[in-house]
Amino acid sequence: MLKPCLKEAKVRTDKPITFKEYKIEQKYKNLGKNKKYFIKTYGCQMNEHDSENIKAILEQMNFSEIKEMEKADLILLNTCAIRENAHNKVFGMIGRIKHLKETKPNIVAGICGCMAQEEIVIDEILTKYNWLNLVFGTHNIDNLPTLLYNVYNGQKQIEVYSIEGDVIENIPAKRDSKYKAWVNIMYGCDKFCTYCIVPYTRGRQRSRKMEEIIKEINDLKEEGYKEITLLGQNVNAYGKDLKEDYDMSDLLEKAAKTNIPRVRFITSHPWDFTDKMIEIIKKYDNIMPYIHLPLQSGSNRILKLMGRRYTKESYLELFNKLKTIPNVSITTDIIVGFPGETEEDFNETLDVVNICKYDSAFTFIFSAREGTPAAKMKDDTPLEIKEQRLYKLNELVNKYAKENNDKYLNKEVLVLLEGKSNKENSLMGYTETMKLVNVKASDKYIGQIVKVKITDVKTWSLDGVICN
Ligand code: SF4
Repeated sequence: MLKPCLKEAKVRTDKPITFKEYKIEQKYKNLGKNKKYFIKTYGCQMNEHDSENIKAILEQMNFSEIKEMEKADLILLNTCAIRENAHNKVFGMIGRIKHLKETKPNIVAGICGCMAQEEIVIDEILTKYNWLNLVFGTHNIDNLPTLLYNVYNGQKQIEVYSIEGDVIENIPAKRDSKYKAWVNIMYGCDKFCTYCIVPYTRGRQRSRKMEEIIKEINDLKEEGYKEITLLGQNVNAYGKDLKEDYDMSDLLEKAAKTNIPRVRFITSHPWDFTDKMIEIIKKYDNIMPYIHLPLQSGSNRILKLMGRRYTKESYLELFNKLKTIPNVSITTDIIVGFPGETEEDFNETLDVVNICKYDSAFTFIFSAREGTPAAKMKDDTPLEIKEQRLYKLNELVNKYAKENNDKYLNKEVLVLLEGKSNKENSLMGYTETMKLVNVKASDKYIGQIVKVKITDVKTWSLDGVICN
């Protein structure tokens, strides 16, 4: 048994990153014959993409996917540790699996992802949910065939690594979309914002080599993909851990030069956003004019407590530079009720929102994550006040989202149509600026980038028709 350790997960060394190739042994390839797997994914895009890898590995082992958990032989929960409610949802799901196992004891059940990297979670699993067959973390997805082989040979498997982490190339992916693909460019994060568990659960920052990333993009283009999103916890720091003379701006340029129709990237930390990156975004039409730039707070005092390494002023300076990208849309993340946040601090956040008039914002009430510095900070703001602040913030965010969308009325925009919309006789897709559009169109347009005229505007979506 290999349990996670928070102390070890905090350590950063200068040890060179190890690059490995994923391989599956022949003896594992028939393990899933006549068996069905169900996987439930929680949390961020990184987890979604990890699940795409897990699915492909399982299918190499001859498992087949099933969407109803009750009919599965193997159940995996790919978990998220960012907020407490994600934790609660996972434990609720584990309860449901327990009931299933009572009637079908042969079901193999396991958890993986960020929660599996948390010491307290594993302790809870060992005491209350000891019937789970398998626990593995974010660093050893490539070892899943061996772990499952051992489980099916009667051994319970708990294998969670805390230290370092390697870069594993060539892990297969069963992608959710045929038109849009995630491309991991780095793993982990070294920023250690005081509220965030990611540097512990995902480990040290490890960038993939640029040639491997570009090869993956070229392969996706060959397969007919129209859009790729370069993915990492803090993509702007790409390459800083490699002893190479390239950085995120070089990677963006190389990605654009593959001529894949759309290149996106997420998530950006304001600290590492360089002028050179902005110039590259402006230079290439296939780098989409959409930036997600987390603010978290507009108060310098709170930003300092959060360990965010920028000020309200430097954030706004960067924001103004980004606004020089033609037609750019900018979204953000904001936390309300961070420990010690006063009404004055909160009003400073509202001030920034009033200046930036974001296209959209993900807003949250602070959720203490055990083991992070912020969890130990004195937090005496009542929940009721935090909820009032969130409500007030959301009103403002919604107002600007609608105002920004209003500008699209009667305009012509390019939309990548991804699939059926919930609206009758319509398809859905996104503009270059990441606006959701419902388009009256037949299925033959699925997978195409089409010119659409916007005919109606709502707060969170647009409606349109294809231009002739
Ligand atoms: S940069 Fe993002 S992932 Fe890294 S510690 Fe800060 S909030 Fe967490």
